[in-house]
Amino acid sequence: MSNESRSIHEFDFSLICEYFSGIERQGPGSPEVTSKALSFTSNITSQSRIADIGCGTGGQTMVLAKHTQGLITGIDLFPAFIDRFNYNAAELGLESRVNGIVGSMENLPFSSEELDLIWSEGAIYNIGFERGINEWRKFLKTGGYIAVSEVSWFTNNRPDEIEAFWKDAYPETDTIPNKVALMQQAGYIPVATFILPENCWTEHFYDPQVALQEAFLKKYAGNQMAEEFIVNQRHEAQLYNRFKKYYGYVFYIGKKI
Ligand code: SAH
Repeated sequence: MSNESRSIHEFDFSLICEYFSGIERQGPGSPEVTSKALSFTSNITSQSRIADIGCGTGGQTMVLAKHTQGLITGIDLFPAFIDRFNYNAAELGLESRVNGIVGSMENLPFSSEELDLIWSEGAIYNIGFERGINEWRKFLKTGGYIAVSEVSWFTNNRPDEIEAFWKDAYPETDTIPNKVALMQQAGYIPVATFILPENCWTEHFYDPQVALQEAFLKKYAGNQMAEEFIVNQRHEAQLYNRFKKYYGYVFYIGKKI
């Protein structure tokens, strides 16, 4: 069987991919938050070029498409997400303006100063916030915008348990002022930051996973990797519940100088 020649990594990858294909979003967020972040940008017209990096299945991309008239390219490493993305775009009749492609945020297929807006919700951590905002800047026109969301600390000090969890999951987890300073240093005017409301984690992210987890455990009964993966997901949701006053998701919007 072809499965036998797969490495653990490949299996892990397809498992995670299958899991997250089953829900609308692959990270915390909501349609309201996407429109709010968009409201801090300006000059987006029918001529504008927009990239949604780490777009997943496109939950937020379709909201962007609804509120803008430009051409949107969604880019993601996982082909199954892009298949779903393009299916979703076609279902909404957006295929002439919204196109999903498989690619890496480490090697983007855009030319210098091609883009008016770079969007990335819950994905820049894959390359790292500092590296991402610096490397992607060259693709933006002067006066263009970048809007990214990621996990951030609300306070200077945190209980050890949650500090250790996020330092391990994402070493660049940092406070809002430190992230804003990075944005300024990278050559953007920090236009706005705002904290995503709790329902972006609960109603739009963790809640839809509850039924999915049950179905997944049934389907993969006895599969240790699948079971461990679900334990991890549940643990992360429980930590959020216990420690949400110390951290959350934050949108950072910058304008290229
Ligand atoms: N923006 C979506 C998905 C966030 S999850 C949402 O908010 O719902 C993070 C996404 O980053 C996943 O879809 C994952 O496949 C993608 N990803 C991870 N590494 C990547 C890389 N190197 N290049 C492009 N996408 C990547």
